[in-house]
Amino acid sequence: MISATEAQKKILELVSIAGVETKNISDALGRVLSKNIFSPLYLPPFDQSAMDGYAIVADDYLNKKAIRIIGEASAGKNYNGRIKSGHAIRIFTGSEIPKGADTVVMQEKISVHENEITILDENFKSGQNIRKRGSQIKKRDLALEKETLITPAGIGFLASMGMKSVSVYNKPRVTIIVTGNELQKPGENLSPGKIFESNAITLSTALRKEGIESINVLHVKDDETKTRNAFLKAMKIADIILLSGGISVGDYDFVGRVLKAEKVKEIFYKVKQKPGKPLYFGTKDNKYIFGLPGNPASVLTCFYEYVVPAIRKFSGYSNCFPYTIGLPLTTRVQKKKGLTHFLKAVTDFNTVTPLPGQESYIMRSYAEANCIVCIQENDEVLEAGEIVEVHLI
Ligand code: AMP
Ligand code: MG
Repeated sequence: MISATEAQKKILELVSIAGVETKNISDALGRVLSKNIFSPLYLPPFDQSAMDGYAIVADDYLNKKAIRIIGEASAGKNYNGRIKSGHAIRIFTGSEIPKGADTVVMQEKISVHENEITILDENFKSGQNIRKRGSQIKKRDLALEKETLITPAGIGFLASMGMKSVSVYNKPRVTIIVTGNELQKPGENLSPGKIFESNAITLSTALRKEGIESINVLHVKDDETKTRNAFLKAMKIADIILLSGGISVGDYDFVGRVLKAEKVKEIFYKVKQKPGKPLYFGTKDNKYIFGLPGNPASVLTCFYEYVVPAIRKFSGYSNCFPYTIGLPLTTRVQKKKGLTHFLKAVTDFNTVTPLPGQESYIMRSYAEANCIVCIQENDEVLEAGEIVEVHLI
């Protein structure tokens, strides 16, 4: 058995970035840039008014010269003439500053009488209230560095440079194989001894939240041939394969046997953790294969702690783990030494509270959780107030 941190380390060592593709910026959220982006233009593209007010020649104010309004510029509608000494134009935020003008006085600092303006601005500065051409970025300057994670703001920035597509690292294609004779599809009438199948939808939803676009689900009975066929199909269409259930050593657990027979290279099997001890990870032909224990809460915890880092590494992320903070416990936690415990918990970002219902079959508590508390392998008793590692999910 391998420790949880060792297992996570091995995953990150093994998984590598696979390839690049061009994406429309509207579909690029959560992707990582595979190339530096250089600005194709000056931003702003022209000297721009930062205020609603009047564009003037600063010397006129300093020399106490009479200033007359001779025109108007609004956003997108330029004043095409040249501003000479003694002239001003009404101007609005975002408008191009007309030639000759060098300063904008905000409208609150001005009174107008018969088309002449009087400026009352104690803080007047020549050149004020103008966003200079290229003050955000200059043409050909580095706008976004390779390896940057694309956020909504990043997409907005790319759009403001007039860009429509970007080169990004691929996201993995994922196939989920759900095993279990006892499983029925939600919506059917439940037969004796059966339960509703929930792991497929839990995993596919979590995958979508992680930005995965290609998700396939295969359902198989606890049958070696059927499991093998599903696995071989998944090998053709996926980069990451998630098998749910059937990874223990019971008579009806065929996943381990199939992976062995198909010569998947086992990286680890069984992790010193609770829940999810029988977790399996292997590789074959640059595919990454996870055998996830079937209990619904184990599946999801293993997903957050092991599959998410693999997906992020594959996708070019530099931070692959769930966002982690240290927070004080509100209650005492006790466990035996030797296993890392991942606890379903809620946090208000000041403290953290593990929830009742930690058993691996219980999803009710997980549905309320917004984080996982990680209690280290060698910890035994943690008192209320002690700081623990909190993984935001
Ligand atoms: P297994 O890992 O196949 O031994 O399954 C462990 C437990 O999780 C058993 O109680 C299963 O019935 C349950 N389980 C397995 N797969 C699913 C699933 N897809 N949805 C809901 N429960 C499951
Ligand atoms: Mg099973």
